[in-house]
Parts: sequence; structure tokens; C-alpha cells
Amino acid sequence: MSEPWIRIRTTRRQRALDLDHDRPAQTQGDAAKTSIGHVRRRILYLVVTLAEIRPWEDNDDPSEFTSLSSDWPHASEHCPGCVAVSPWFWTAHFSAEPAQDRSVRGLLRAARAAFESAYPSRYREVEEHRRQVRRAALEAPVAAKRVQAEAAKWLVRGLAEARKQGFVAKVPREGSRQHFDGPWPYWYGCVEIAQSEAAEPLLAALREAYPARFDAPSGSAYLPPYKDPARYAAALLRAVIAEAIVARRRPTARSRATRPILEELHRAAAQDGQTFASLWLIDDLDLAAVNRQSFDGLTFHAPRELQDQNVVSSLMPEAMWASEPYRMPHADRGGFIYASQGGARGDHWETTKVLNERIGKFALAIRLATGSTGPNRMVWMGEPSWIHVEMPEAHPQVENQILGHWRRVAAVKPEDLSGLVDLVALIGRAQEQSAGKGQKQGTVSAVSIALGRYSRSYAGLIWQDTVLDLATALEACFGPENKEEIGLTLRTRAAHLLGRNDAARADEIYGDLADLYDLRSDLIHGNARFRHTPQELCDARGYAHTFPSDRLGALLDRWRDIVRRAIVARLLLADTRCGEPLWPLRGNQVAVDRCLVRPDKREQWCQRLVDEAAALSLPLLIEPAPPLIDYLHR
Ligand SMILES: [Zn+2]
Repeated sequence: MSEPWIRIRTTRRQRALDLDHDRPAQTQGDAAKTSIGHVRRRILYLVVTLAEIRPWEDNDDPSEFTSLSSDWPHASEHCPGCVAVSPWFWTAHFSAEPAQDRSVRGLLRAARAAFESAYPSRYREVEEHRRQVRRAALEAPVAAKRVQAEAAKWLVRGLAEARKQGFVAKVPREGSRQHFDGPWPYWYGCVEIAQSEAAEPLLAALREAYPARFDAPSGSAYLPPYKDPARYAAALLRAVIAEAIVARRRPTARSRATRPILEELHRAAAQDGQTFASLWLIDDLDLAAVNRQSFDGLTFHAPRELQDQNVVSSLMPEAMWASEPYRMPHADRGGFIYASQGGARGDHWETTKVLNERIGKFALAIRLATGSTGPNRMVWMGEPSWIHVEMPEAHPQVENQILGHWRRVAAVKPEDLSGLVDLVALIGRAQEQSAGKGQKQGTVSAVSIALGRYSRSYAGLIWQDTVLDLATALEACFGPENKEEIGLTLRTRAAHLLGRNDAARADEIYGDLADLYDLRSDLIHGNARFRHTPQELCDARGYAHTFPSDRLGALLDRWRDIVRRAIVARLLLADTRCGEPLWPLRGNQVAVDRCLVRPDKREQWCQRLVDEAAALSLPLLIEPAPPLIDYLHR
């Protein structure tokens, strides 16, 4: 059996044969024909399959097996090395004649021989991997192996008790979406069962196997949850029940699905501290081009339709149901950004705060670079493991659940990522706090205030608040030191720097900001009548959206886009990538207006913006955002 003699794709042939095989015989005559056909097929099957399994075609490069981990516990069913022989095994199983050795051992021997003759190099590497796995299992600490044995025994008792108490939900009907991802078993019920005698042997085994983790003296006043072995016993029981609910079957202590959870218990208990994660759902963000890619500590997910729940549940089991409202309207036009961090010893906020800041800055950078219209919708925080000793949290991020129909969806591409990370660094520099003297608190740059107001303009507050936020953000970017003629200064600086020698664009910005400032003054001074109502401003711009809220949204979006470019201009003019900073983030040593009235200086400043945006490879940064798209009529 050195060289296969038929070169056709086996799987397709097999499937055709199997289909034939399943068809019931119609009549007596048919039955006779079928039995003859059956024998013929059987022979053909034997000929086709036995030597024709070539999953790697002619490629015998074993490198894919060389870097496989063999650590204990080993997830064999997910390991490409450990399952490499299985196609031959199943073929041998199906095609073996009754006279042959049909024991598992005999079939395995035949399968290995076929594998070895087809792919000798791969076979050698796989055998080496399996040897390493066996050695790792032999060398695994006895105490840790005892934990697995005790955990399985505890599950038998715990599941029986949980069933008696009614924590195990009925298996939902096939095709029913109702119980897709919950309801989850009652946590305190599981804790109570874990505090009973039934869990004692497991708790003792955990203490013995992982002394550093469970070293806290019993009876101490406060025990962090992850140092309490009873929490792990409860979490294990809960995880097995929950996994069975999602998979729609009866939870058992010794099923194939339970084994990975038992292994996860080892991974969770053996690590130093806890792992926490944070997951954000952001509207109007298309991450399809970077789906499942990781960059700079963040991972991106772009679920296909109706797969959003799966993303949340697979990254952070149970988080979907952590709190109401858990629903995710418009998630079909949203993207997920995820980050996790291990080794946490304290409160989860200490870890998730850092993760949330990292994701938040990246989301802000995306908005600055694209002018996308979507707010942050949800933030989930918790442990990215089925066995979690603390409950996940879910935090809705928008006040207003109803979104506009006119939107701008940002698509992030792989080549944008490094520019976005650079932009995050610029944002971080703007947000740095200056050192305070003595007891005094340090200050932050005005651009940092602008960034905060700009972000808040996405939160779905009432429009008056958004107008004030945008006006404040603009003032923080382009406002003069003294408060004289602030409106005029803002308009002039914005028209110079954002118009960039485009007369029509400069004129537009000038007019838009005049309207924004009038509206802001009317609001803040409580004037009896608006100089121009928002409706009049919309009419003047010829807006004809179906809903008044969309017209207002378009007006606010126009102002927000000017604020976006104002923030970007300040960040880029303070950067050192293309030369000395022209307008530093702090201090007032630059005579801004004096520079802007000189054509040569103005040209230099505007050119700097163009060069910086090109250096970041984010050309949209300094350009007006593309028009909003009407999703109502699409
Ligand atoms: Zn393996």
C-alpha cells in the first residue's frame, strides 16, 4: 500500500454511497437488487477508500505538528496531532470485512499503517507528539489528577442534588431558539450544594493540589472569591449545567463535553490569580475585514447575522444574561472589540478598568478617523471561562435606545490598524495629566476636555445637551486664551485650519459654526426665542429626511464632524512625527491667529495636517466625513 491507485476525492464518493445506502427498498425485487448492489458498493467502497485517504494531498510536511503543546491536561479532541489518524480509523472501521480483525486495537493498527505509508514524515511527528502527551500525563502532579477524579465524583453527586432541587432545566425542543443561551442555573443554589458534605473531598483535593491558590486560612474575615475552593466546586457544577443548556442535552458527569470543563478547572485553578475580560459592542462599526484578528492586545469580532449572541457567549459565558436589558438592537451593523488580562488578584474593576480604557481609546480613534455615527452599545465584563467564580456584568451604554436611520458605518481594514494604534497614542498624550504641585491636582489639556465632550455627544442625550457638548468641545480645541470675541476666533481658526484653502469648504464651516454658537448662546442664556430654531437650520440646509429626529441628527452630525476634525487638527499639530510641534497641547506660547493670517505659515500648518494624516495612513482623518446613508429606505 505504497501509492494509492485511484485519485478521486474520497469524501464526495463516500457521501454519494452513503446516500444510496440510506434509501429504503421499495419492493421485493428492489430488495434483491439492493443486496447485490450493496455488495458491489461495498467492494467499490473498499477499493476507493482504503488507500485513498489523502487529507494533505501530496504534502508530507510535518511542521504543523511540531509546535503543538503537549501540556497536561491535553485537549486531545481539539488537537490536530491527536486526531490525525482518525480518517484512516473510520475508513478501516467502515470498510473492514467481517473476517478481518474488527477490534478497536486491530482497526487502529490498520489505520496507523495506512497513515504511515501515505505520509511517513507526518506520521513520525504525530507519534512523537503522542509520546510527549503520554509523558506529560505521567508526569502531571498526582494531586492535580486526583482533583479531576474527585471533581467527576462531585459532579455525579452535585448534579443529582441539582436535579432534585430543580436547577437543571428541561432540554429544549430541537429548533427552539427560546432557551438558546439560558436561563442559567441559580448561582446560590449551586453554592449551597457546594457547601454540603458532598463537595468535601473535592475541596480537600483542590487545597492539596493548588496550595498557593487556596492558601487562605479557613474562617478568615474576607476571602477573595477566587481563593475559595467552594466557589470553584459551585462554579464547576454550574458550568456543566449551563453548557448542557446551551448544547441542548442532559448534563452528565462523564460525557465528552464535560471533559474539557474539567480540564478548564485545572487551568483556572493552576494559574496565578484570575483572568478578566472586557467586551464592547459598538454600533455602525464594520469589522468584517479584521474578523477574529488580534492587534495590540485587542481582538475584533464581526458576527454574521444572528450570531451576535454566540460571540458574547463564547468569549464570556453567561454575560448575555448578566443584566437587563441584554438585548442588542442594531447589533447587525455593529462590531465587537475584546480584551483580556490574567494575573488579577484584587477586585475585577482594577483589571477591567484598564481594559475598558484601552478599548475606549481605540473606539474613539476609530470615530476620529472615520466619523462613524454609532455609539457604544454594550459593555460586558467578566471571566472568559465557563468556570467563573464571579458573575459577569453587562452595562448598557446609551440613554436613547432608538437610533437614527441616517448613519455612517465605519469599516476598519487590516492596513488601518497600525495608524489607529498611533492615533490612540496621540489621544493618550492629550489625556495625560500634568504633575500637580504638592497636594494640588494636575491639569489635563483642553483637547482632553474636547475628547470627553465629543465622546459624550454619542451617548444619546437630549439634543440641547449635545449642542452644548459640541460647542464646549470646539471651544476647548480652538478657543482663545482671553474670552473676547470667542465666537469669531473659533470660526476663523476652524475655517483656516479645516477649510485648508478650499474657499467653499471654509465658508461652510464658518456658517455652520456661527449657527452652532447662536444656538448655544440661546440655550445657555435662556433666551426667550431662538434666533434660528433647529428646524429653521435644517430647512436652510435643505434637509428632507422622513423623520424630524433624523433631520436633527443630520444637523448635529454636521457640527460633530467639524468638532472631530478640530480635535484631529490639535492632535496632529502637536505631534512630532513630521517635525517640531506647531501648536503644542499645553501652554500658550504660540500666537495662533498671527500664524493663521500669514499665508506662508497657514500653508505650513495645513500641509502639516496633510503630511501627518498620510504618515498615519488614515486619510479620512482630516477630510469631511462621507455623507450619511439612509438605512430606512435601503
Ligand atoms: Zn495532541
